[in-house]
Amino acid sequence: MSTPSLLILPGDGIGPEVMVEVRKVIDWFRAKRGLELEVSEDIVGGAAYDVHGTPITEETMTRAHAADAVLLGAVGGPKYDDLDFAVKPERALLRLRKELDLFANLRPAQCFDALADFSSLKRKVVAGLDIMIVRELTSGVYFGEPRGIFEEGNERVGINTQRYTESEIERVARAAFDLAMKRDRKLCSMEKANVMESGVLWREVVQRIGDAEYPDVELSHMYADAGAMQLVRWPKQFDVIVTDNLFGDLLSDVAAMLTGSLGMLPSASLGAPRANGRPAAMYEPVHGSAPDITGQGKANPIACILSFAMALRYSYDKGEEAARLERAIEAVLADGLRTGDLLGPAGGTPVGTADMGDAIVAALEAGL
Ligand code: NAD
Repeated sequence: MSTPSLLILPGDGIGPEVMVEVRKVIDWFRAKRGLELEVSEDIVGGAAYDVHGTPITEETMTRAHAADAVLLGAVGGPKYDDLDFAVKPERALLRLRKELDLFANLRPAQCFDALADFSSLKRKVVAGLDIMIVRELTSGVYFGEPRGIFEEGNERVGINTQRYTESEIERVARAAFDLAMKRDRKLCSMEKANVMESGVLWREVVQRIGDAEYPDVELSHMYADAGAMQLVRWPKQFDVIVTDNLFGDLLSDVAAMLTGSLGMLPSASLGAPRANGRPAAMYEPVHGSAPDITGQGKANPIACILSFAMALRYSYDKGEEAARLERAIEAVLADGLRTGDLLGPAGGTPVGTADMGDAIVAALEAGL
């Protein structure tokens, strides 16, 4: 098999700043753990618009299709706010997601012990939390037709359509079951089957796939509104949650905030397995380009580094190395190192972006 490849797209704002720290981590894994990875880099978002007049070029798309995984920093910023929708930096993200057909969005909510007091919930509710939300990303109400604002009689009506085919539900369900098999073998599917036909179909299909293909996974179903309550009441009852695009958008944000700062949150978007068995994949921190702190060396690189950890686990089948990296981050946080976004009432040692990256590499080294 050819050497696994990674296309790095740093993007705009703090994207390039946090990516420098990811590069340090990648270099360490190559030098000290024999990681074989062919890394290349390209521009995207506003950076690409400045040079090419488009947020992502055809050449970059071709490279993204060819890469085993894409790692993206962030795109956008005030400089580009007034651009036409068609060339806005965010269009690059949408195009990558659509053309790579990344239908499963993985959003982990993991609470590092050292940050448990940073959550708005009590320590005992969040300490040790490790759940994964799988959100369907390419269909549902954000894409369904008909959509628009129409004249109806003497007023206007706004319409969006929730639409799911069986095959769309099947593929995201399988992605979630596969993840559950690698974790605690518990999957909770969330919809609103009580009031939506698309929810009835969703529940039936997920149950069928579970019965036929994943008898070892304990499957449960929950209405999405009840799920939202349970997520803040006792989130540790969950392992993997699978849900549609709209509910997933909301529930993954709720779950994310259980764990503290935007600067800590990674994500992965996966597609179908390719000929070499690896899924089409893009990894990115949940945060944006943070123009308010750009160029000041203040950005927390951990979300992007954790996104690389997800790539190790899901694209390169290096789960042990991913866990090694997560342990290094845990150790650095336990030592009290905090970028500005993590400095709460509990205090800590303030550090900048580069110091945080260096400390994580030192912790990797110490963990050998
Ligand atoms: P944002 O995530 O960029 O910032 C929100 C707040 O969180 C800011 O105060 C910022 O300083 C802070 N923050 C974010 N990431 C941080 C980090 N790693 N370390 C420390 N602090 C961090 O969201 P926004 O301000 O709403 O959007 C800014 C720009 O980013 C906009 O142009 C928006 O369109 C774009 N955006 C891009 C993405 C993406 O590329 N995936 C996602 C969201 C927003």
